[in-house]
Amino acid sequence: MVIEEKLQELKEQINKIVPSGITISDVEFEGPELVIYTDDPKQFADQADLIKILARDLRKRIVVRPNILEDPERAAREIRAVVPENAGISDLFFDPETGEVLIEAEKPGVVIGKNGVTLREITKQIGWTPKVVRTPPIESSTVKQIRTYLRSVKDERKAFLRAIGRRIHREVTSKDQWLRVTTLGCCREVGRAAFLISTPESKILVDCGEKPGSTTNGTPYLYVPEIYPLTTLDAVVLTHAHLDHCALVPLLYKYGYEGPVYSTPPTRDLSTMLQLDYLDVVRKETDKIPYTSNEVRTYMKHSITLNYGSVTDIAPDVKLTFHNAGHILGSAIAHFHIGEGLYNIAFTGDFNYQKTRLFSPAVSSFPRLEALFMESTYGGANDFQPQRKEAEDKLYETVSATIKRGGKVIIPAFAVGRSQEVMLALEEGIRRQKIPPVKIYLDGMIKEATAIHTTYPEYLNSDLRNQIFREGLNPFLSEAFVQVDSPDLREKVISGDPCVIITTSGMLNGGPVMEYLKALGPDERNSLVFVGYQAEGTLGRRIQKGWREIPLGWRETIVINLEIATSDGFSGHSDRKQLMNYVAHLQPRPEKIFTIHGDENKTIDLASSIYKRHRIETHSPLNLETYRMI
Ligand SMILES: [Zn+2]
Ligand SMILES: [Zn+2]
Repeated sequence: MVIEEKLQELKEQINKIVPSGITISDVEFEGPELVIYTDDPKQFADQADLIKILARDLRKRIVVRPNILEDPERAAREIRAVVPENAGISDLFFDPETGEVLIEAEKPGVVIGKNGVTLREITKQIGWTPKVVRTPPIESSTVKQIRTYLRSVKDERKAFLRAIGRRIHREVTSKDQWLRVTTLGCCREVGRAAFLISTPESKILVDCGEKPGSTTNGTPYLYVPEIYPLTTLDAVVLTHAHLDHCALVPLLYKYGYEGPVYSTPPTRDLSTMLQLDYLDVVRKETDKIPYTSNEVRTYMKHSITLNYGSVTDIAPDVKLTFHNAGHILGSAIAHFHIGEGLYNIAFTGDFNYQKTRLFSPAVSSFPRLEALFMESTYGGANDFQPQRKEAEDKLYETVSATIKRGGKVIIPAFAVGRSQEVMLALEEGIRRQKIPPVKIYLDGMIKEATAIHTTYPEYLNSDLRNQIFREGLNPFLSEAFVQVDSPDLREKVISGDPCVIITTSGMLNGGPVMEYLKALGPDERNSLVFVGYQAEGTLGRRIQKGWREIPLGWRETIVINLEIATSDGFSGHSDRKQLMNYVAHLQPRPEKIFTIHGDENKTIDLASSIYKRHRIETHSPLNLETYRMI
């Protein structure tokens, strides 16, 4: 059946379901959604369950859009007239692509009204679908720029979504049924994550990262015939925003990829921010950058965001669902349902199976699951991390001792994830008088990353959300935190009073942390506290191993006399015990488990331990292998 006939058939089905009096003028696939255009959006708004019924019966994600959207300026005036003043509307963002208006307000409850009455009134007045969000307490320039950019390319994007929609819903032509996974990186190593899922119909790439600290094998095997030419790819799916999973996505567009990138909304924003920073860091070290900010924008233009739990068609025979992975903001386990009940495979990305200050533990139950690719960063037999509380106590101890002897504490951390966990621990430490009330300086992109965290409170765990919203105690807004935004201020921090400095990069391969280390490294009163994983080949790992003189370029050397401490329990990864626990709690129990994203001995050890304990078929794949699942 050609796509026009398919749409016609869907239109007839919809007409049978909707009550008479509602006219359906057109139906169209846009990206993974089925968009219903109508002249009667108000009647649609009156029938609260209609969209749900359509979605269930047609097994599609449904969006209803009025044919004529009211002029945004006039609509804005009407919204402000309907909503009581004390709601504190701070921004209205009209998105013609979705027909939605995002109402940003200090008191979302007032915009919604009792039992949603105000919200329904808005819909009736203006036709746009209102969506209410709380005004983020810290404004993120990344989020603002992305929204503005997407608005500026809305026509191109609409054309792109329509083309993708038609491609997703094309007819399945092959009679064969098979499923293969090709490993293009991240096997028996940490970094350059890239896995290709292929069926007779479609090809999906999961992640496309770089390898931190690598000078030679930094790129996944993107040139092999299985994936080349890139125009044959249906979709790219990102588990999370860390660079070892997403740094090289813009490169795909340089090499000819034209399709969509699926991620959660926070992953889209954080990955853009980190990619632009990655370009900056690379540019400082060499004159060969892999891509430019143009390709980052191309990636933005092709991004499609999905929230946790939304089952979405991404190819004629593939449905994707994201589940919370507990690792960083927006991190997801990507679950793929292949064919009509043929096979289910999931990729954990990086995940944490323990509750942290920011996130709930990773999801371990799925409707169905036959094969699992799981990370093994801490998969070795002895990779036990201390409990979170122990890690925090150790941090408090090091900070207190350093401050007492007049020193400064440098904490290198990823801008995203560790930084916010450590910020929250230190804020509580000061509040409960476990450490002296010193200033905590944030250098690098940490503040911007924190702002993105406060933009998406629904992705934080409920305790933190309640603390922020119900009790009005947003720990991120503590006066202890000071942003370092100029070289001058950095100089002052270096020569000033005892303090704590949280700064990027997390593995000491570039970034402002190098300035601090150069200046503060020789003084033994200071300390350097590692709170995250240090990959082989990075300066962080070398210092952990005991290097005390670090050559920098031709003449310079960094002398390391300061105290070196490691507070391992802050990691966003599951340790050995949690990895084993996760497998024990998996619902349902998979037939096959592949251990990836770990040093060679760790992936092998974890695979064999899982087999011994659970008798599940396990593999510790090499790069460039292809496994047939069915
Ligand atoms: Zn990660
Ligand atoms: Zn990773």
